[in-house]
Amino acid sequence: MTTIYEIGRGAEFGAGDATLPRFPRSAKAEALIAQSDAHTAHNYHPLPVVIAEADGAWVTDVDGNRYLDMLAGYSALNFGHRNPVLLAAAREQLSRVTLTSRAFHHDQFGPFVAELAQLCGKEAALPMNSGAEAVETALKTARKWGYQVKGVPEDRAQIITCEGNFHGRTLSIVSFSTDPDARNEFGPFTPGFVSVPYGDAAAIEAAITSDTVAVLLEPIQGEAGVLVPPDGYLTAVREICTRRGVLMMADEIQSGLGRTGYTFACDHESVVPDLYILGKALGGGILPVSAVVADRDVLGVFKPGEHGSTFGGNPLACAVGRAVVGLLATGEYQARARVLGAHLHEALATLPKEMVRSVRGRGLWAGIDIDPALGTGREISERLMTRGVLAKDTHGSTIRMAPPLVVTAEELDWAVRQLHSAAG
Ligand SMILES: *Cc1c(COP(=O)(O)O)cnc(C)c1O
Repeated sequence: MTTIYEIGRGAEFGAGDATLPRFPRSAKAEALIAQSDAHTAHNYHPLPVVIAEADGAWVTDVDGNRYLDMLAGYSALNFGHRNPVLLAAAREQLSRVTLTSRAFHHDQFGPFVAELAQLCGKEAALPMNSGAEAVETALKTARKWGYQVKGVPEDRAQIITCEGNFHGRTLSIVSFSTDPDARNEFGPFTPGFVSVPYGDAAAIEAAITSDTVAVLLEPIQGEAGVLVPPDGYLTAVREICTRRGVLMMADEIQSGLGRTGYTFACDHESVVPDLYILGKALGGGILPVSAVVADRDVLGVFKPGEHGSTFGGNPLACAVGRAVVGLLATGEYQARARVLGAHLHEALATLPKEMVRSVRGRGLWAGIDIDPALGTGREISERLMTRGVLAKDTHGSTIRMAPPLVVTAEELDWAVRQLHSAAG
């Protein structure tokens, strides 16, 4: 009998249709999970799978079971696990120089910021490490710009944010989260933020005052359940920001770099924000690389000593980031996400109406609301895991699918069949 354990690229995907017990896990897997539980904070609730190896769209656990990765590190792995082009760039750089700090110049920095800015149609880029750091950098940029360029009185700057947002986990960022889990018992919070409903451009306009320096939004809200705003929303926000002299800052950390079928989710409306916030896939699934990208009149507000990061823009990060920019410059990944995204959404549309309440998303990105009577998102994710598919719930009974862009149409069909079985 063919078992799900043998399924992998090139194998027969249909063989996974039978439910096969993956449990109990091996003693080795159990011990590794117990060790994690005993020695770290319980700030995550991982699926009980212990990954040991990965390649392309597939991961292998410590017991040799293979799984199709339909989460892709929340879009940090857009180019697949261990993409050969990105690994080669990293290896090349590892053999030369990996870290200098920004106290000195190095030969990867200039090329990276120039190439990244060009990809974004902007003049300048400021590299950081994690996504949250890039968001913090954007907030600081907007405040400085407000005081220096717009002439907002000292300490009065306000930034408009959207309900249901996810921009990271630092104290200032959770200060404008509307998710109680992100905020409870973390106060007091940073002032200077106003929250408006997502997808409502008129609410943004109404919230703008002479102290408003920026609007910060996700062009598609990922953590909220892959919420796509109404058509014309981004265009309207762009027009309002231009007319009212406010910076439009697009957090494309999860939505950008190919995921939705274009380099940026803003491209769906041909909207260019004043500032892009990038992360996740910018590090090629190898290391954390983030950045804010804008024109010089915006990023030029910083003077030496006013902002920085020891690791931001390090040689290894820049070398990998350059290779990522190189992959995106060909347009191949964006085209793949467009074609395969249409395929995924067609396959999801065939699932029974009683099972799936709604499906949202763009490109290779889907938020799938399963009928809660069939199980919580967590339960369905666990059942999917036993069928060789790794996906993660967001809120309630919403399953997010965001595979690496190297996934194939057959693999997507197989994953949707597994979802059908897991929810049925
Ligand atoms: C993941 C994410 C962040 C935070 O990135 P980290 O690297 O986890 O700090 C910010 N914004 C969005 C939209 C994200 O998806």
